[in-house]
Amino acid sequence: MPAIEKLLVANRGEIALRVMRSAREMGIKTVAIYSEADRNALHVRYTDEAVCVGPPPSNQSYLLADKIIAECKRLGVDAIHPGYGFLSENADFARKVTEAGIRFVGPSPEAIEVMGSKLAAKQAVAEYDIPLVPGTAEAITDIPAAKKMAGEIGYPILIKASAGGGGKGMRIVEREEDFEEQMDRAVSEAQSAFGDGAVFIEKFITSPRHIEIQVLGDHHGNIVHLFERECSVQRRHQKVIEEAPSAVLTPEVRKAMGEAAINVARACSYYGAGTVEFIVDHQLNFYFLEMNTRLQVEHPVTEQITGVDLVKEMIHIAQGEPLRFGQEDLEIQGHAIEVRVYAEDPTNNFLPDIGKLQTYIRPQGPGIRVDDGFEQGMDIPIYYDPMIAKLVAFGDNRDEARERMKRAIDEYEITGIATTLGFCRFVMDHEAFVSGNFDTKFVEKYFTPDVLKAPVPEAIEHLAAALAVQLLEEKKQASAPTTSADQSVTSGSMKNWKQRRWA
Ligand code: ADP
Ligand code: ADP
Ligand code: MG
Repeated sequence: MPAIEKLLVANRGEIALRVMRSAREMGIKTVAIYSEADRNALHVRYTDEAVCVGPPPSNQSYLLADKIIAECKRLGVDAIHPGYGFLSENADFARKVTEAGIRFVGPSPEAIEVMGSKLAAKQAVAEYDIPLVPGTAEAITDIPAAKKMAGEIGYPILIKASAGGGGKGMRIVEREEDFEEQMDRAVSEAQSAFGDGAVFIEKFITSPRHIEIQVLGDHHGNIVHLFERECSVQRRHQKVIEEAPSAVLTPEVRKAMGEAAINVARACSYYGAGTVEFIVDHQLNFYFLEMNTRLQVEHPVTEQITGVDLVKEMIHIAQGEPLRFGQEDLEIQGHAIEVRVYAEDPTNNFLPDIGKLQTYIRPQGPGIRVDDGFEQGMDIPIYYDPMIAKLVAFGDNRDEARERMKRAIDEYEITGIATTLGFCRFVMDHEAFVSGNFDTKFVEKYFTPDVLKAPVPEAIEHLAAALAVQLLEEKKQASAPTTSADQSVTSGSMKNWKQRRWA
């Protein structure tokens, strides 16, 4: 197969830039697509060529498969990288791309199809003896039979949309008497959100960890894993903080999970980069959840601990090359933590915030990587995912990575918009995170908005006390009061400190 010369990135924001950077290092020309809301976006400025594909809503722009393929033909593009989200897990798109004679930098349409359905995925891995969460193996059609099954599995149970994703399409049922009502809601939600009403039941594991394995496969049947990422700190079943390696896996469990992940990939003749997700209980028993057939948001932590550029490897694979390393060539070096900087307000249920990045100053220095798609003065568009940036810290060990992350969060200056930075700073210092003894219930167990409400640091408390004493003295002596200029310096620096720390 000839080398790729011109790559269209069918995405926006940080991931579009991320992909273009690797392409550029490989001497590949890039084409960006953008919506009218993204005219001035960084991915549009970075690329060699750019085409506007439509108005802001993604179903009129970033999701227009036929239009994107037509642009590829017009511009002589020979490959498409879909990033994550949007068309990345759309089997029809992958098929159409290939039929148009363009290479899809991702797996086969068949693999996307099988793994895009959580039920089909479980059926596909059946012959490989992969541990599954107890539950129904097929879509529920007979509600009384399903209720009986739920009773046998034991409450609480989880009703899940087979086509669900992004933390959506899940309902916890605590008690048997709520079963029918929750079932009705789950089916209609699945139908309206994913166009597919198929739902199934899983035992709800009360306090699991989310640990996933990165895999890479080529067109020649070789598959390797690149160890794990732990993504247990979540809100709304969606990740906010990820790290590699996990603080709790033993070499034996790591090896067993790696082999299970390779088998899941084998079950769908996988090629490209993919992620096999598991939930893990207190005894480190692991259960297969689903496979994501694309580059994952949190892929940088794996890149930092393995030294592998995953996007480059995806491109090499799409060019038909055999994997450039074997399992024995891979090893974990150091530790990496990623925090997702979302335009969300942690003191208001993590609801998305909108507005302008009035101040936007990135952290720098040893062991810090920032993947973002914004600059100071830009607006966060309401049409897309509210993620501003991914901040990654890496070090020789977990403590160094954690200390670097704290230092970087303190250096990060964002004003004009609420972000998850203060929440992430809180997590870095929390005893449960520090010790590694945490699970997907971290936010429910430990987080309340008041932990972010302007903590008064000791130094300022002392300063305030000293000032009070001084004022009293001055009053007593009826001498000149403190000048207003002095006061404004004090309050100004206090405000600045608070903004820097918790913005
Ligand atoms: P990751 O799975 O890469 O760790 P997320 O779960 O946050 O990260 O999902 C990545 C992106 O893909 C997000 O923008 C999310 O909204 C989107 N996404 C994932 N699955 C779906 C889906 N089935 N439908 C719509 N969007 C999805
Ligand atoms: P999505 O496609 O939305 O990513 P997943 O099946 O990967 O759906 O689940 C997302 C998150 O929901 C998991 O990381 C975990 O926190 C929670 N979850 C999923 N299944 C279970 C379960 N059976 N028990 C407890 N938590 C679960
Ligand atoms: Mg998932």
